[in-house]
Amino acid sequence: MILMNDFKAEPSELREAMLGGVRRVLESGWYVLGNEVVDFEKQWASICGVTHGIGVGNGMDAIEIALRALDVGPGDEVITTPMTAFATVLAILRSGAMPVLADIDSDTALLSIESAMRCITSKTKAVLLVHLYGQVRQMDAWMTFCSQHNITLIEDCAQAHLAMWNGKVAGSFGESGAYSFYPTKNLGAPGDAGLLVTNNQAVAERSARLRNYGQSVRYHHTELGMNSRLDEIHAAMLTERLKYLPEFTERRRQIAIAYRAGIKNPLVNQLSPPEEHDAHVYHLYVVTCEQRDQLQAHLQQQQVQALIHYPICIHEQPPCLTIKRDSHGLLNSEHHAAICLSLPCHPQMSDADVASVIAAVNSFKGV
Ligand SMILES: *Cc1c(COP(=O)(O)O)cnc(C)c1O
Repeated sequence: MILMNDFKAEPSELREAMLGGVRRVLESGWYVLGNEVVDFEKQWASICGVTHGIGVGNGMDAIEIALRALDVGPGDEVITTPMTAFATVLAILRSGAMPVLADIDSDTALLSIESAMRCITSKTKAVLLVHLYGQVRQMDAWMTFCSQHNITLIEDCAQAHLAMWNGKVAGSFGESGAYSFYPTKNLGAPGDAGLLVTNNQAVAERSARLRNYGQSVRYHHTELGMNSRLDEIHAAMLTERLKYLPEFTERRRQIAIAYRAGIKNPLVNQLSPPEEHDAHVYHLYVVTCEQRDQLQAHLQQQQVQALIHYPICIHEQPPCLTIKRDSHGLLNSEHHAAICLSLPCHPQMSDADVASVIAAVNSFKGV
């Protein structure tokens, strides 16, 4: 079976290096908010081309803390997409702000500027832009949109590690970018981890307080924060995994190029290619098919695992039925949820695996 992710197939040198990282931490005797976290924060901020990185417990907390540090909260509206991980919207709700859902563009599954425009009200404080599947697009248009309407741009980069657009890395376009290092992400820890990046020193300082009970100096609490710290052990293992990330990312892109050229089935459609080679890191390789469930079952029979991202839009989840949305509805998102399918696209796949996936997709005849 060709799996969506195959951690056990990773190079043994990588596993040894991670164990070396764990050993470093255990021998240091310092487990929370120490040098490993500071080192990893510096490395990740520098990769993103920004001045500050703040390690936190997970990607969802990175979004919530970014929002709170930017003073987005009760009474404010945040425009985002219904075609995303639930955590995106849950983080907005946890900050006390109100999410407002705009529709996607069908050819990319990314937030539509036209739809976002219709969602603006006097309460709109921010746009939370999700670089879905690893794509960074139209950043000039989004930055113009936000500055024209005096809105804060925040990026959900949980799927977009190292994605570059016009020479800049995901997370450096907005006031803050939130990363997740959940195991399946392009850079994943063996557990939960997250980080937010920003060029704004005040936002960085406030985020560092918010992740640690709102504590400014030891035992002095200037506001009500959370407990959301990145562990030393995870930071040390992420530092080791980071060394492999450029090579792993390039492998994902090669697989994507092979899929784009090789998949030729009139029943299966591709999303638009990225604007530049570096602007997509293929966290997921997504195709669309009107007979999606049958295609998924066919692939399973051919020993290819395929998953759906995402089968249910946010506004169709029981706790979110009344969330505000574009007055024209969210039809593109709903249709995408019914037809999207993610093919395996991970760095451990061999050329033979890639060829097998292409052959399996091309042999689907429909019903
Ligand atoms: C994974 C993910 C998150 C949440 O990250 P966690 O580390 O699981 O909390 C948020 N947004 C998107 C788009 C994601 O893919």
